[in-house]
Amino acid sequence: MGTFATAINCTDGRVQLPVIEYVRQKHGVDFVDMITEPGPNRILAENGDHAVIEAIKRRVKISVEKHNSRLVVIVGHHDCAGNPVEEETQREQTRAAVKLVESWGLGATVVGLWVTEHWKVRDIG
Ligand SMILES: [Zn+2]
Repeated sequence: MGTFATAINCTDGRVQLPVIEYVRQKHGVDFVDMITEPGPNRILAENGDHAVIEAIKRRVKISVEKHNSRLVVIVGHHDCAGNPVEEETQREQTRAAVKLVESWGLGATVVGLWVTEHWKVRDIG
């Protein structure tokens, strides 16, 4: 079947291939299950839209439980139409989003990513 990781990514078409390629190369998985929302780092950090958050959680759980994913990445990126705030604010949101997803007790490592204005992917601490 191959090995899987999970990405909670933005809907933006510019960040799909960079995130897939980065996660495959850095973490040595074959496939990246993609869960997309516009500005998911903001949605998870605010933790207010429970219908959307439950929908994200349901999809993440399928990836973790059925595809045995042991890594969940949460993505923020430059020029995000769904989350048009500056990079530092997005980084803070992504850190808060990581903490929320960690609280779901998935048994997977959760990592925040930032996609730069050059569409390069970086881990955020
Ligand atoms: Zn975006």
